[in-house]
Amino acid sequence: MREFAYQRAAQIRDALTAVADDAGARYLGGGTNIVDLMKCGVEEPTRLVDVRRLPLDGVSGTPDGGLVIGATTTNSDLAAHPEVRRRFPSVSQAVLAGASGQLRNMATVGGNLLQRTRCGYFADLSRPCNKRTPGSGCAAIEGVHHNHAVLGHSEHCVATHPSDMAVALAALDAVVCYETLDGPGEVPLSRFYLPVGDRPDRETALPAGALITAVVLPGAAAGLRSRYRKVRERASYAFATVSVAAALDIRDGVVRDVRIALGGVASRPWRAGSAEALLRGTRPTADRLLACAEEALSEANPLPDNGYKVILARNLIEAVLGELAGTEMDR
Ligand SMILES: Cc1cc2nc3c(=O)[nH]c(=O)nc-3n(C[C@H](O)[C@H](O)[C@H](O)COP(=O)(O)OP(=O)(O)OC[C@H]3O[C@@H](n4cnc5c(N)ncnc54)[C@H](O)[C@@H]3O)c2cc1C
Ligand code: SF4
Repeated sequence: MREFAYQRAAQIRDALTAVADDAGARYLGGGTNIVDLMKCGVEEPTRLVDVRRLPLDGVSGTPDGGLVIGATTTNSDLAAHPEVRRRFPSVSQAVLAGASGQLRNMATVGGNLLQRTRCGYFADLSRPCNKRTPGSGCAAIEGVHHNHAVLGHSEHCVATHPSDMAVALAALDAVVCYETLDGPGEVPLSRFYLPVGDRPDRETALPAGALITAVVLPGAAAGLRSRYRKVRERASYAFATVSVAAALDIRDGVVRDVRIALGGVASRPWRAGSAEALLRGTRPTADRLLACAEEALSEANPLPDNGYKVILARNLIEAVLGELAGTEMDR
């Protein structure tokens, strides 16, 4: 590992200045992703600016019934927070479905959103990877890609985004707040991750040097019946093969509000807008839920070895919506 400077920031402005003054500087949250990438040579920062002591820790309420989640809140504290569990249960379920207890104790909300893909070629310096080295090619397309994307990918990159938390947040229309030396800003999670296109190395809409300060969960989603389910190759301690975050509001037998986001299938949390539209305002019969699940995958374009994800995702959406709607699934 290359030598680097370590600096612990006590104030937000100190952290922003430290990163602005050193082009090779990077923020350090829990270090559970960036340090691994430093060990294999994918990341080579000259300076790590530790943000864990900044006053950005904790969860608080907003006037509209939503929540503000500080960027340095650990994944464990977020999952265990009583108001998160009560008002946004899918967020707690998603976080608990990720990593291990020890990792969740270290990992922060800001770091979780910015963790890098788990595509094996990305961490293998001997193989071409457009995300790591733009223009070098993509080893996965002709290589091992059974766990890669089926939606929204391009000929330049077929990697998936690994975060469980981001999928639950995407379904609930969360907003990412950040700070720069020019002032604060915010971006909805739906626009936070950039489409792959021909620049898979450009991953988010964050301005250079921006520090994530919080994630806001809007009150409109509070109290919806919500659920996160993850299918993975092992029962625990594994990234998603496919995951589904869904929320449902049914009144008088009719769907008033529905949110569906998929994980493990695209370079970002995949919000299934047309599928939601198919269900909204209708009675959630088993046939309607199946049609909705099929619609969510209608644009899928699988690679030779990952077509199984399309079926898996469709079935998982149908099952999760069925659980939320309390609908009998036998047709
Ligand atoms: C074995 C293993 C299994 C895992 N399994 C899962 C899983 O199943 N599901 C899942 O979702 N995750 C999983 N993870 C990933 C884990 O959740 C992430 O490593 C973790 O969330 C990253 O958070 P961190 O605070 O440690 O980030 P760091 O490693 O500290 O940082 C990650 C990135 O975020 C940047 N950063 C950190 N904080 C900020 C901020 N406030 N503002 C701007 N930039 C910032 C850093 O510069 C870096 O680029 C696993 C990790 C490991 C090692
Ligand atoms: S899928 Fe993306 S991350 Fe993986 S090798 Fe190809 S370009 Fe790199």
